[in-house]
Amino acid sequence: MTKVYINGKLYDKADAKISVYDHGLLYGDGIFEGIRVYDGKVFRLRQHVDRLYDSARGIKLEIPMSREQMAEAIASTVKANDKRNGYIRALVTRGAGTLGLDPRKTTDPQVIIIVDDISLYPPELYENGMEIVTVSTIRNHPNALSPRIKSLNYLNNIMAKMEAIQAGCLEALMLNHEGEVAECTGDNIFIVKHGVLKTPPIDAGILEGVTRNTVIELAQAAKITVQETALTRLDVHTADECFLTGTAAEVIAVVKCDGRPIGAGKPGPITKQLRERFHQITRQ
Ligand code: PMP
Repeated sequence: MTKVYINGKLYDKADAKISVYDHGLLYGDGIFEGIRVYDGKVFRLRQHVDRLYDSARGIKLEIPMSREQMAEAIASTVKANDKRNGYIRALVTRGAGTLGLDPRKTTDPQVIIIVDDISLYPPELYENGMEIVTVSTIRNHPNALSPRIKSLNYLNNIMAKMEAIQAGCLEALMLNHEGEVAECTGDNIFIVKHGVLKTPPIDAGILEGVTRNTVIELAQAAKITVQETALTRLDVHTADECFLTGTAAEVIAVVKCDGRPIGAGKPGPITKQLRERFHQITRQ
């Protein structure tokens, strides 16, 4: 039976409950992280915990425990679930309040940690690459709700995902308010052009992905030139290679965008190399 952590205690999945007055439910008022466990080890735990606390700061939410205690709670929940390989969802809600927005009327933030499995895309897509489509829903304007905050309000991304599904794709390419490439609904995007690896900068209005940063490090270690630079749809359409990164997605090739084959229409050599390296460090 899956054990869920809520505020320092473990509950069976069926008994893991919080108030319907919680502002996390009523307004999406809270923040979260998605983290992987590989071979019993939590991948980049420190980076995920740091991002969780930055997100909390971003929405003026005080997490009622230290970063060390959070890291410890995550590790012990993984242990309690006896999971060698899996996916962790850590979230903090604003807590139960009144039926109004005022965050001052909420009491205790709820700290929840779930350890389970995840599979985002079908296995054959990891072999052959996937198709994405540019959607009309733009990524949240950074001055409305910064995409750097991993908030519990994911409607922006869900709306984009619905458009992609409507168009027969599993993933959406989202542009920012300037019309530049931002990211996909739950993944960051990279392209390769003339051997150079390119990805939008953080100020394009994206989540600074832990997997993105890992892949940048792996590329640099492999002496591949990396540029964090503004990209347009045309850059994606005319790229030699394209791939997405994310905790759940890991590294997955994109072989078609907006109905146009990218490069040779199959996963490219640099994509394969980085995917291989990512596998090595996560499954070492
Ligand atoms: N962008 C968005 C919008 C995301 O939700 C995520 C995480 N699922 C990512 C990018 C990738 O971030 P990470 O590599 O830290 O999982």
